[in-house]
Amino acid sequence: MKYIKNSFLIEKVNLQKLTKKFETPLYCYSYEKLKHNINNFKLNFKSFSPLICFALKANSNLKIIKEIKKLGLGADVVSKGELMKALKAGVNSKKIVYSGVGKTSSELSYAIDKKILLINSESRSEVLEIEKLAKSKKKIVDIGIRLNPNTDAKTLSQISTGKKENKFGVNEKTFIELVNYIKKSKYINLKCLSVHIGSQIINHKPYEKMLRVIDKLIRKINYKFEFIDLGGGMGISYQESKKKLNYKKYSHAVKKLLKKHDCKIIFEPGRSIIGNTGILVSKVIYIKENQTKNFIILDAAMNDFMRPALYGAKHRIIPLNRKREISKKTYEFVGPICETTDKFLTINKFQKLNEKDLVIICDVGAYGSSLSSNYNLRTKPVEILVKGSKISVVKKRQKLKDLV
Ligand SMILES: *Cc1c(COP(=O)(O)O)cnc(C)c1O
Repeated sequence: MKYIKNSFLIEKVNLQKLTKKFETPLYCYSYEKLKHNINNFKLNFKSFSPLICFALKANSNLKIIKEIKKLGLGADVVSKGELMKALKAGVNSKKIVYSGVGKTSSELSYAIDKKILLINSESRSEVLEIEKLAKSKKKIVDIGIRLNPNTDAKTLSQISTGKKENKFGVNEKTFIELVNYIKKSKYINLKCLSVHIGSQIINHKPYEKMLRVIDKLIRKINYKFEFIDLGGGMGISYQESKKKLNYKKYSHAVKKLLKKHDCKIIFEPGRSIIGNTGILVSKVIYIKENQTKNFIILDAAMNDFMRPALYGAKHRIIPLNRKREISKKTYEFVGPICETTDKFLTINKFQKLNEKDLVIICDVGAYGSSLSSNYNLRTKPVEILVKGSKISVVKKRQKLKDLV
């Protein structure tokens, strides 16, 4: 993705032309970037070749999951719907792990029938429910237990999941009790210790701390796990200059753990695989001025892309066609939805914009389309995957007649 002269290209496709054909708002993904991210991820941890399970909640587009599967990844799912999607995309059930604090009995039953690699359980009650189902089906079910390591991921509080006040996982005491209980069970087999401390983590230190907690716990209970599932959470840089996660240090710390406890590592990355592969193209509908600000009213809104409204996340906005002239006013980019939080970003010194101009919201591949909704009865955008000069519509724009 880059400017050639003043127009923007996704691989070999001119974005202006693409937008003319498919209109806006429009999600567009680059296959080349996706492949690059996956290969890089593998490379970063190649000394212990982990099982890499893509977290479907970051992007649950069927055709994109199919590409990710072809590039060798498994799936991390958090609902029956996501599990069905992963299977439909052809992901091998022995490469699927299932997390979540509130899996219902029918969801668990489905997961057991599909013989997935692991159900990562997050409570005592859930473990008992799995055992009951396994018994009634006369099966032995492989599970993991998700530990809450009480580790601050130093990320946005809304996407932190590994602190003791968060709802995720079980504390150390419950973990130990469950290990002892499961040892005696005829129907469940404890294969995995899992953790996931949060998302958009760019500092390796919380990961190191999490690994120390795991090491200490395993030594204490002296139990041989076949897998340690370290979750995802690897951050990306949303601002050009922001610092990046030090994968070398993270990988080194994992290797240290593996020296003491030999087992297979599982990762569940979402954002780091898909985040920077996608953009959202939007058209300026109106420009509304007051004394100090220009409101740039876009045709994309929080229903299309919710991260700014939901977490106050900041995503770069750039013009689709570059021009020289810079505006002296402050631009506030907003959507048309009847909510004050329906705004994307405030920018000084943007190039001068006119109505009908096109802009690009960057790095929306993760938690973009998967979080979109029909709020205000707005249709969801079209999604396009570009591979070289090949364009495929991986999701059609919704039609109003189907909503109304
Ligand atoms: C959300 C989630 C992930 C993926 O997180 P990223 O920050 O997108 O890498 C992985 N595992 C679990 C259990 C999750 O809930």
